[in-house]
Amino acid sequence: MKILVLNSGSSSVKYKFFDAVENVCHAEGQVERIGMGGSLLHHKRLDGDRIRIGVEATDHAQAIETVIATLLSRNHGVIADKTEIDAVGHRVAHGGEKFTRSALVTDEVKDSIRDCIELAPLHNPHNLRGMEACEQLLPGVPQVAVFDTAFHLTMPPHAYIYSVPYILYQRYGIRRYGFHGTSHRYVAAKAAEKLGRSLEEIDIITCHLGNGCSMAAIHKGQSVDTSMGFTPLEGLVMGTRCGDLDPALVLHVMGKENLTVSEATAMLNKHSGLAGISGISSDMREIEEEAAAGQERAVLALDIFTYRIRKYIGAYAAAMGGIDAMVFTGGIGSNSPLVRARSLDGLDFLGISIDTDVNTKCIGCDAEITSEESRVKVFAIQTDEELVIALDTKRIVSSFQ
Ligand code: ADP
Repeated sequence: MKILVLNSGSSSVKYKFFDAVENVCHAEGQVERIGMGGSLLHHKRLDGDRIRIGVEATDHAQAIETVIATLLSRNHGVIADKTEIDAVGHRVAHGGEKFTRSALVTDEVKDSIRDCIELAPLHNPHNLRGMEACEQLLPGVPQVAVFDTAFHLTMPPHAYIYSVPYILYQRYGIRRYGFHGTSHRYVAAKAAEKLGRSLEEIDIITCHLGNGCSMAAIHKGQSVDTSMGFTPLEGLVMGTRCGDLDPALVLHVMGKENLTVSEATAMLNKHSGLAGISGISSDMREIEEEAAAGQERAVLALDIFTYRIRKYIGAYAAAMGGIDAMVFTGGIGSNSPLVRARSLDGLDFLGISIDTDVNTKCIGCDAEITSEESRVKVFAIQTDEELVIALDTKRIVSSFQ
């Protein structure tokens, strides 16, 4: 079964094309600057063939048409006929309280995704556009929606209800939802596999550290807490997002600086985090370089970033009454021995003892980074959200055939 996985954003469509029998990605890429003029296609094939060309993409339908044409292209493609695309899997940002798992796309499912637009106004409308484009371009091909929020719907109320008037939850669905669910689910399962134990008998903390960062407490295979909340702004320090803070600070600064709601939103989402603290960059590689050169605010950014992770490890270990394993993933989690070591610093009391040698060498590979005597095993594992989407799509489509 061959599956096209799409992640349709506001101005881009990212894609991966899988053989879901062998679990191999044959091609991947993205169309950028949709509807902005000067659209670009980046396309890479498994054998290393790459192209980067200007394309016409005034909307998502045209962008996806370009993706399909590229997959079919004589020189750069991977299939000879459109009918080889057996199914399409879509990454969907928000499934509200409705979707506890991935779902076959039907009119009813699309309506429910539409109902969640208020919760994810920057993402869900584009995810829907991707589905509608595929209906036109690949008529009759089944589609599956895989939700970033679904994995965390197992959280108990004491983890997802905010201490604000309860009526806000009832009226507007204001609660913690959590995101990065496909990634947390994937790396937790991988860690259990590496431990040689069933996910259902262990407690794991997973740390997805990319441009967006979140952690999850996974008790016997179920997410019982996660650091992102109503939106992906809560929790850890991120590239440009603030994570946890005193909500009164926002109101205070809005008054002082005479900020509008959208200016305050931009301050918290685009000008905070590593970029805001350091004044240098949102990119951890640059922060690490500058910190190594002694740049004070880069040192501070790194300190705050790793201290926040350490606090959450303590909180989640307490929430689950101890842990058996931990996972670091995402661009930073998979590639930064320094962030991993600093985040785990002083956690010997929890039974975590890092193997410095292995950790230092583990950059972009999967490895256990704790020593033999470490009671809690810590892994660096590369995430693969698109593979999870492809596998969910295969499972759901097969069950309807
Ligand atoms: P996204 O969340 O957009 O998918 P990624 O998961 O690719 O992003 O993560 C991007 C982050 O990973 C950036 O902060 C980048 O600096 C960081 N990163 C990538 N490689 C390294 C590395 N070798 N050392 C430290 N940080 C790294």
